[in-house]
Amino acid sequence: MDEIKEPVSKFVKVRCPKCKNEQIMFGKASSVVGCLVCGKVLAEPTGGKAKVKARILEVLE
Ligand SMILES: [Zn+2]
Repeated sequence: MDEIKEPVSKFVKVRCPKCKNEQIMFGKASSVVGCLVCGKVLAEPTGGKAKVKARILEVLE
């Protein structure tokens, strides 16, 4: 249970819950971020902050 729900202002590596694709995205994306493989929404902006809906595997420094 290491899922991070709070938005982070760094790049994060996330795993798509649908197809398990791993990709890098900005933790506070200002627009909808979709999975590059299946198109599932991985993060959506909510009042300026991104709500990450995928599992964050790693926060990149
Ligand atoms: Zn996917």
